[in-house]
Amino acid sequence: MKIAIASGKGGTGKTLVSTNLFYTLQQHGYRVKLIDCDAEEPNDLIFFKGILSKSFCVNQKVPVINEINCTYCGKCHEYCNYNAIFILPPSKVIKVIEDLCHGCGACSAACIYSAITEKDVSLGTVSCFGITEKTSIIEAKINVGIFSPVSVIKAAIKEAGNEGIIILDSPPGTSCPFIQTVATADYVILVTEPTPFGLSDLKQSVETLKTMGKTCGIIINRAGLGNNDIYSYLNQENIPILMEIPFDKTIASHYSKGEIVAKYMPEWQPQFMSMLNSIVEKDGNCSY
Ligand code: SF4
Ligand code: SF4
Repeated sequence: MKIAIASGKGGTGKTLVSTNLFYTLQQHGYRVKLIDCDAEEPNDLIFFKGILSKSFCVNQKVPVINEINCTYCGKCHEYCNYNAIFILPPSKVIKVIEDLCHGCGACSAACIYSAITEKDVSLGTVSCFGITEKTSIIEAKINVGIFSPVSVIKAAIKEAGNEGIIILDSPPGTSCPFIQTVATADYVILVTEPTPFGLSDLKQSVETLKTMGKTCGIIINRAGLGNNDIYSYLNQENIPILMEIPFDKTIASHYSKGEIVAKYMPEWQPQFMSMLNSIVEKDGNCSY
């Protein structure tokens, strides 16, 4: 079973929930993997000591144009859905904009003058860390200057396989990295806070998940802050509140020191277990 933990914006407590759910399941003897898909700033490993078992680079094929063979016919530009080829035939200028290239290969297939070859560009790394015998963390990390983490996230999720419970710590927002992460999830937990900003971002996340046909539930972090608008919205949309984490100094203090709250405040473990059980009950087709 794959559960994605996501939020419309950064700093709402997504990592707090992901790491504490992972820890609680570990303590209860489950086979569980935590995939840190926040590839621009992965930080789940701050909370655990792991032993690196495997690491590999994620590459992408990018076209290289041989300007001697090129006739400036423009076919490659025409076939590129991502506007990654810039061409000015009268001036005999043609360039690949590597940041926009998705490595689909359409331009190579379109060129009948053998003017396109391909090179590998390194996008980032996927690293696997054993935490206990039955648990591990897989971290996706993009290289500095790389435009999109999507391919690295995809490789990390693929590396996780399908066995046991897989927790996907999603990148914030609702753009392509979020969509890539939640696309494979059986259930999505959205973490939010009861403030106007939190509500606004939550609405965007919910609307995106609706178009994807994904089931979600909500964790309200820093409950007690802000106002009650979020509760009215969730009631109106019939979206369940899975858990509320209060605005609490002790919780904030453990988290800020890189400590697992459910370890130092074990009374939180039953709450995470009961949340998991309620998700499994709702999503009866899931096995783990
Ligand atoms: S399709 Fe080939 S020949 Fe035509 S512009 Fe592109 S690289 Fe040049
Ligand atoms: S590989 Fe695909 S995305 Fe990249 S330049 Fe060629 S057609 Fe465009």
